[in-house]
Amino acid sequence: MTLLWGFIKLTAKYELNDLEFWSEDKRFGLKIHRRKVSQLLKMCARAGVQETGGILVGFYTESHNCAVITAVSDAPSDSHSGHNWFHRGTNGLQRWLNHLWNREKQYYVGEWHFHPFFYPNPSQIDINQMQKIGDSYSYQCPEPLLLIISSDPTTQWDMKVYIFPRNHPLIELTRCS
Ligand SMILES: [Zn+2]
Repeated sequence: MTLLWGFIKLTAKYELNDLEFWSEDKRFGLKIHRRKVSQLLKMCARAGVQETGGILVGFYTESHNCAVITAVSDAPSDSHSGHNWFHRGTNGLQRWLNHLWNREKQYYVGEWHFHPFFYPNPSQIDINQMQKIGDSYSYQCPEPLLLIISSDPTTQWDMKVYIFPRNHPLIELTRCS
């Protein structure tokens, strides 16, 4: 409960902005509206001291270098998590993705994680999972993104974004806004 209140206070105290992240060479970018940032922070607050996560949905800009996030999922009901690990389930995701595709031509672009009381850096398990997704035929996403939120409710939340181009090491995108 204390943790939840800490988070609510934090989100109220710091005016949320639209966020933008880019790789150094500007080949890869991600934009996320403050409403989606706020939605993510609420889901993190609810998770408390457990990791949680979900998927990122959106579209790529015409120049194909920037993913615009338009929707974020909660953790599907068949997900499992502990203090420092998270296995995202799949319940309901395909139906939701079909709906967003048919209605708005929006699609899967990656994953988000919450690392409570830890750094917003991907674990080795995270890296393996993202590479698997990039290689998977069913995801149709050769460059999946991973957005990680970390927190220490006594200070502040932090957010980092990584892209996993197929057959290449991950690239960190730096916050520009
Ligand atoms: Zn993680």
